[in-house]
Amino acid sequence: ELFYRQLPKVELHAHLNGSVSVATMERLIARKPHLNIDHSMTAILKGQRRTLDECFQVFKVIHQLIDTEEDLLMVTKSVIREFAEDGVRYLELRSTPRADSKTGLTKRRYVESIIEAIRQCKEENVDTEVRFLVAVDRRNGAEVAMETVKLAEDYMLASDGLVVGVDLSGDPNVGHGKDFLPALQKARNCGLKLALHMSEVPSQKEESELLLTLPPDRIGHGTFLHPEVGGSQSLVDRVREKNIPLELCLTSNVKGQTVGSYQKHHFPYWYQLGHPCVLCTDDKGVFSTSLSMEYQLAAATFGLSREAVWTLSQQAIGCSFATDAVRQQLQQRWALLLPEVF
Ligand code: IMP
Repeated sequence: ELFYRQLPKVELHAHLNGSVSVATMERLIARKPHLNIDHSMTAILKGQRRTLDECFQVFKVIHQLIDTEEDLLMVTKSVIREFAEDGVRYLELRSTPRADSKTGLTKRRYVESIIEAIRQCKEENVDTEVRFLVAVDRRNGAEVAMETVKLAEDYMLASDGLVVGVDLSGDPNVGHGKDFLPALQKARNCGLKLALHMSEVPSQKEESELLLTLPPDRIGHGTFLHPEVGGSQSLVDRVREKNIPLELCLTSNVKGQTVGSYQKHHFPYWYQLGHPCVLCTDDKGVFSTSLSMEYQLAAATFGLSREAVWTLSQQAIGCSFATDAVRQQLQQRWALLLPEVF
């Protein structure tokens, strides 16, 4: 619907390699025919569901298709353009630096390719402000996490403020959050913001308690934090005291089967508390969605008025890792666009 596309939006939780569109996938598949990959292996279509485990298999296939600097530059630029076309006016992309001995890709060149893509989009006047979060994949353990944070620190200083934070993600059933505390603490100490996946699966209550000893700047998913689903009131209280915004990804959680249906999503639990909630896509390519679709789904499922939807998108500005000056510019843009959208 037009309203949701025209609505200016902020995207704060988007994994680069999960955000690749069908059109871009086609280009990648054509470049690497010997891999014998087809579309059913890179996206979960409407009505389909997969277990979270199966979702992580999908990322393995996508990673085979994106393994050079050239791929990364092309993919990042297309993802940024697609978000802009969908009305996203501020975007935080996150991605896990990967090295590949076959193509000579290094983790440094990985990060540099993404920064270069962001710069090129800016030069080409793509209408969205982009920042980058360097992702720590929990499957790779504490040592790699520390290296990744060092990389993030270097590029925070070398990217004119494009690298703003660190994410903790990857298969929630592998590894334990406490192993990453030293790396995350180091990131915080050098001024990087923290966006951590938390309570994405039911068994993570203790882990979330631990991670909240270093309260993150934002929480990804937080599906099982509240007592009604096996979390606890003390977890909820801590998140509320610190006013830590939640990044909520409806379609991702339903298709990945951590949430039974749109109606059963935890969005209304937090929204009704007046807690800062930001609607996000997670992996718009893998889950075949867009941010405007997520806003529309939330409005339809939870009966949000257009005014409420507007407020939701505007409040997301304050949850971003942008500087005060950039946030102010965004607020001004929203104010200017208001009469056009309504
Ligand atoms: P990349 O970091 O750009 O390669 O994006 C894909 C990666 O993001 C995956 O391999 C996971 O580590 C992470 N990721 C994407 N979606 C999810 C999710 O729903 N939960 C946890 N990690 C995720």
